[in-house]
Amino acid sequence: MNVFRALGRVIKGTWWLFVGMVTTTKHMLRRSITIQYPRQRFEQWPRFRGRLAMVPDEEGGHKCTACAQCLRICPAACITLERHKEEGVKGFLVDAYVVDLGLCIYCGLCVEVCNFGALEMIPEYEISAYDKADFIYDIPKLLARQLEPEFKR
Ligand code: SF4
Ligand code: SF4
Repeated sequence: MNVFRALGRVIKGTWWLFVGMVTTTKHMLRRSITIQYPRQRFEQWPRFRGRLAMVPDEEGGHKCTACAQCLRICPAACITLERHKEEGVKGFLVDAYVVDLGLCIYCGLCVEVCNFGALEMIPEYEISAYDKADFIYDIPKLLARQLEPEFKR
């Protein structure tokens, strides 16, 4: 092989090695865009649609009036409402309000349609479970995490 050709190859190889090292060093010195999850967490945007929750009233109860608008609009049919009427009481009384978060598609339509501000999507997203039954959220469960300061907006 021609000596000059071999020398040219060595110089070319060294150059590209240098370019590679510069690129690697640049990335090593750059500020990291990842975080040490789960020890660190990104702060969610105010309009982030996490899991569905009930908004507590002043006494820690729910604000649902059992109007059933959320049931009608829910595309996943994952809300169950049991209600009854009582004499002398205007409107309905809630017996049970249950959401199957295993079916919920986090569309937020139920929150939008509720005229009583009874529902909210809180910035909670770690709701994976081994048992499907854990995705069934009744009133106490829908209110529970919302009452913790971490999930208050
Ligand atoms: S729309 Fe609101 S008030 Fe009506 S049933 Fe649903 S959560 Fe209750
Ligand atoms: S967020 Fe959408 S899918 Fe989930 S319960 Fe509300 S309306 Fe249904």
